[in-house]
Formats: sequence, C-alpha cells, structure tokens
Amino acid sequence: MNASAVKPNQGQDIVIALSKGRILQQTLPLLAAAGISPLENISESRKLIFPTTLENVKLLAVRPSDAPTYVEYGAADFGIAGKDVLLESDCQNLLEMVDLQIAACRLMVAVKQGQSLPAQHIRVASKYVRSAKNYFAAQGRQVSVIKLYGSMELAPLVGLADCIVDLVDTGKTLQANGLEAVETVCEISSRLIVNRAAFKLKQAQLAPIIQSIEQAAHKGR
Ligand code: AMP
Repeated sequence: MNASAVKPNQGQDIVIALSKGRILQQTLPLLAAAGISPLENISESRKLIFPTTLENVKLLAVRPSDAPTYVEYGAADFGIAGKDVLLESDCQNLLEMVDLQIAACRLMVAVKQGQSLPAQHIRVASKYVRSAKNYFAAQGRQVSVIKLYGSMELAPLVGLADCIVDLVDTGKTLQANGLEAVETVCEISSRLIVNRAAFKLKQAQLAPIIQSIEQAAHKGR
C-alpha cells in the first residue's frame, strides 16, 4: 500500500479507528481505562464517528478489515485491528505497538471430519489468502487458494476445496458443519496500531493514551 502521498491527521484532535463487531466489545473497557468512552452506544448506532468523554478524542467505527487502512493513510492516528487482518494487509506506514491480547483465537486449517489433507496439490478456500499461501509455502506444500468472503465452512462440504483456513475460537462453528481443525497456522489477537508519522508528530498526546491502554490490557491478562 502506498500511503506516502497522504498526510497524517495534523489537527489537535486524536482520531482512533475501532474495529466493529467482536473486537469492539473487548476494546471499550481498555479505552475507558484511558478515560475515553463514546458518548453513545456504538453497537446500537448507525453513526460512524463518535465523540467521547475527552473533548479532543474521536472514535471511528470501521469494518475490521478496513482498520489498518485508516491508520496507514493517517485518517486515524491509531487503531485496533486483529492480527489476522494485519497479516493480510501490506501496510508500510503503521507500527504494531501493543498485543492487547483480546479477541484471541487461532487461524487454523480445517477439513471434513475424518478426512486428511491430500499429499499433492491441496485446494484451500479462505478469506486469508496471503496467510494460507505463506503457511503452506513455508512447508514446501503446493496449494491453490480460492478466495472466499464468508461461510467458508461450506467449501469442503460441497467439493469446492479440500480444506479451509479460518479463524477458530470455540470450534463450535466447525463442529456444527461437520469439520475439524487439523493444523494451526498461527495464534491471533488484536493489536494496537499507530500511524508512523502521527507517532512522531503527536507523541506527547498519544503516548499517555497508548500507555494507559497497554496497562489495562496487561491487567486484564
Ligand atoms: P467459533 O465457532 O467460536 O470457533 O468461532 C468461529 C467463527 O467466528 C468463525 O466464523 C470465525 O471467522 C469467527 N471468529 C472467531 N474468532 C474471531 C475473532 N477473534 N475475530 C473475528 N472473527 C472471529
């Protein structure tokens, strides 16, 4: 991603990009520890920009896969994104600063229950094309990866693929669809990411907030 033409948010305001959905509920208590709470319920609102209890801090509610983009281009000073999303993105202008250890799960290879992966040329269905390719390539296993955007569990059931690479938390989704996890690609959790330029230019404002969030994350362990 080439974000060199984009200037960081240079106003006095601090803008934070939050991943909506599963990550959001676990992010809010960490922000609260830094004195930052949205003035309305983000999950129940159709708005996308939220003022907070700190007058100069705004929250953006974005799709999890878009969170790194807002930070990469400086539209947000920092943000929270899943490691799964960061592994798929090609960001040069952001720093991955803190492992918040929230929304923890695993990126795993799963097959139909009782089946094993073919020894030759494996067909993989995944939203995580880059991670899947890197994982199998590192082991010298030949694969073709079919990009899907959701409901990946379906692919092995209807013969679209031999396996899927997907996030697994409790394993209930796999089980409900007659699949089982056979290999772990990597451990996943949410990370605090910061725009490189903003980190330099606004260090005095950002550092105490980041530190409070980091401390709250460590306490929650
Ligand atoms: P589970 O049934 O608990 O194993 O959850 C699996 C489903 O939830 C899959 O559809 C995953 O894509 C999704 N999922 C699990 N953990 C996460 C996470 N940390 N972030 C986003 N999606 C997740």
